Amino acid sequence: MSELRVGVLALQGDFREHIAMVRSIGATAFEVRTPDDLAQADALIIPGGESTAIGRLARIYGMIDPMRSRIESGLPVLGTCAGMIFLGSATTGNDQPQLGVLDVVVERNAFGRQVDSFESEFEVTGFDGSMHAVFIRAPWIHKVGADVEILAAVTDPSTGDDRPVFVRQANILATSFHPELTDDTRVHEALLAMAEER
Ligand code: GLN
Repeated sequence: MSELRVGVLALQGDFREHIAMVRSIGATAFEVRTPDDLAQADALIIPGGESTAIGRLARIYGMIDPMRSRIESGLPVLGTCAGMIFLGSATTGNDQPQLGVLDVVVERNAFGRQVDSFESEFEVTGFDGSMHAVFIRAPWIHKVGADVEILAAVTDPSTGDDRPVFVRQANILATSFHPELTDDTRVHEALLAMAEER
């Protein structure tokens, strides 16, 4: 059993599914809504949902600066889908609240607004065997900064270009897809491994 305490940002989105997955791999998971909650966390998950709502609520709850400073000082963090958008430094559309700790420009709803959800299979750097993943009104990464490692990408059907869907930058992991909605626990295990190493 791990002693690690994983906080899951619980302002909006599918935080319950992340909590269940973290518990299923033997760590403690709890809901984070305030700076005091955040202070208890050895790792943080920012769930999928609606990134503009998460950003607005984070501002109202006074969470933007505390999250930014803990992540900048090395707190392991996983952002999924809307969580990835919120971690990023810019989007290709209008401005919205973002933490700006992950050096990527994100394109929201990149697979087409009409494409509600789909599943795909791809290889992930450092994982044995391919990953089967669920995408829901998902973003992809339009542009990565120099310190961002691309762990997985999918092919843009309209241009044939590779579009990153799983990246790492130091203590930050981010996915376009929803690892909490399958029974593949490897992404959450990678976050726990980063927290153990610390
Ligand atoms: N489309 C949402 C956004 O832009 C993300 C969807 C999700 O998190 N499943 O915030």
